Amino acid sequence: METAAATTTRVPAERRKRGRMSEPDVLIVGAGLAGICCARTLQRHGVGFRILEASDGIGGRVRSDRQDGFILDRGFQVLLTAYPEALDQLDYEALGLRPFLAGAIIRYHGHFLRLSDPAREPGAMLNNLFSPVGSVLDKYRLWRLRYDLAHVSIEDLFEAPETTTLQALRQRGFSARMIETFLKPLIGGMLLDSKLTASSRLFLLAFKMLTEGDAALPAEGIGAIPAQLAKDLPEGSVQLNTRVRSAGRREVVLESGEALAARAVVVAAEGPEAARLLGWGHTINSRSVSVLYFAAKESPLAEPMLVLNGGSRGPANHLCVPNLVQPSYAPPGEWLVSTTVLGWPTSDDKLLINTVRVQLRRWYGLVAQEWRLLRLYRIQHAHPVVYPLDWQQAPRLDAGLYCCGDHRATPSFQGAMESGRLAAEALLDELGIEVQPSSSEPANSAHRRSRPGAPPEAEVDDDD
Ligand SMILES: Cc1cc2nc3c(=O)[nH]c(=O)nc-3n(C[C@H](O)[C@H](O)[C@H](O)COP(=O)(O)OP(=O)(O)OC[C@H]3O[C@@H](n4cnc5c(N)ncnc54)[C@H](O)[C@@H]3O)c2cc1C
Repeated sequence: METAAATTTRVPAERRKRGRMSEPDVLIVGAGLAGICCARTLQRHGVGFRILEASDGIGGRVRSDRQDGFILDRGFQVLLTAYPEALDQLDYEALGLRPFLAGAIIRYHGHFLRLSDPAREPGAMLNNLFSPVGSVLDKYRLWRLRYDLAHVSIEDLFEAPETTTLQALRQRGFSARMIETFLKPLIGGMLLDSKLTASSRLFLLAFKMLTEGDAALPAEGIGAIPAQLAKDLPEGSVQLNTRVRSAGRREVVLESGEALAARAVVVAAEGPEAARLLGWGHTINSRSVSVLYFAAKESPLAEPMLVLNGGSRGPANHLCVPNLVQPSYAPPGEWLVSTTVLGWPTSDDKLLINTVRVQLRRWYGLVAQEWRLLRLYRIQHAHPVVYPLDWQQAPRLDAGLYCCGDHRATPSFQGAMESGRLAAEALLDELGIEVQPSSSEPANSAHRRSRPGAPPEAEVDDDD
């Protein structure tokens, strides 16, 4: 087979239909969101591919397990419905998405304080303003941040000067109390970064997406997202339990020693593994997380909201009851409690479980002691550390060699999905195939609505 054709050509209709050829044109390493989205784009253009996946299933970090009638996502994750790439590629209705209530419950000085989103729950405005979580000016600054983000495109946002999230929050004038009690656990929980050293651009993207859409769970668990994306891939095009040992221009070598050739190779493995496969000589650091699931007879919460640790002792940063959002997450009469610990405070599982239990007992009383531990997930590489954020790294490394994944964009569903599509588009360009738009009908129209979020235009004295 020849490589790049000199001119851009349209894909013949019968080739588009065929989807997969007996010998793949492209080998994709990894069946996470990036690898799958790369494959979908190639398939749409009639380019044959095979995905080589080391593990026993698709989805990468986005997988769910079933245990005793519960759905356990491999780490607490939500789909932010405003992600442009998710809006374009997913069918939200088919996923049966249901949202968390916007806002949070904050554990603060021995009490639970409810802070809601006044743009969606105007009745709670006064309660919010005078809540001890931050000053009135902090609430205004929060409103102002939301307003500013509503008026800036993602592209412009990524052009903003880069600093740490903590620095960006300070520059916006948030008080230390507001940062410690609300912003740190909220944003730290989203970026899996308890110290807020993550990229300020990443924080702004996450906050923009959070305020412009919902944080939602699919009915069948978070793993339903890659399952939906992969459902129309040709049968046999994903080869599970196949670990790639090394990858180079137009060739990969499997752990078994077998060498496979193709017109192009796309490495869609997670950052540290991509660095190893491609021999970059440096690694990509990881943000780690542990998630503990408990089964309870009574729900500790009344509402489908996130509970944040606003500075109280204990390792858990946030907690929720997923079946208050999606009843399918737990069998009837039981409640699923999901608690997330950021970082890697200890390698001793027993110690971690005990300290989380102590914290939960302090928060919810003796009843928490009776909660049955369902499972502990330890996720060493949950997010890549990307600082400064270079959100659109070129996917083409060389002729016939491409790389995609969240470490090439932003650590998120959005970043992984978009990066996979862009890698495929760059590859199509090399193959001389004109990129076709994905769909003439915009999907998920109900979720494309813009939400009101403008703060009062009055001038406010910025001093605390
Ligand atoms: C606990 C947790 C919470 C998160 N929360 C959110 C959230 O709320 N919202 C959000 O947007 N994002 C969240 N994320 C981030 C998001 O899940 C990731 O950014 C995204 O899934 C990354 O997709 P990917 O395809 O780039 O990589 P991965 O999902 O890591 O896929 C890489 C694939 O490559 C395979 N592979 C690796 N090496 C090899 C090899 N040598 N040979 C063959 N196959 C190989 C792996 O098995 C894997 O399947 C969270 C992540 C975690 C872990």
